[in-house]
Amino acid sequence: MKSLRRGLWDGEVGKDARGRFSCRICRRSLVARTEAEDGVERSCPDCGRAWKSRASPRWRTTGG
Ligand SMILES: [Zn+2]
Repeated sequence: MKSLRRGLWDGEVGKDARGRFSCRICRRSLVARTEAEDGVERSCPDCGRAWKSRASPRWRTTGG
């Protein structure tokens, strides 16, 4: 699965007026599907493409 950043680079993912991620191919807002502890998987309800965004680098779990 591509990363969300890669999708942005490839022009497949964009941001709409509200600043939400959207599929630029279908012009549909992406739906956050899975919220794993290391990131969120967002998918387009139309074409089914999915991109995974990692948790913010600034946000780190303590300890570990
Ligand atoms: Zn799409």
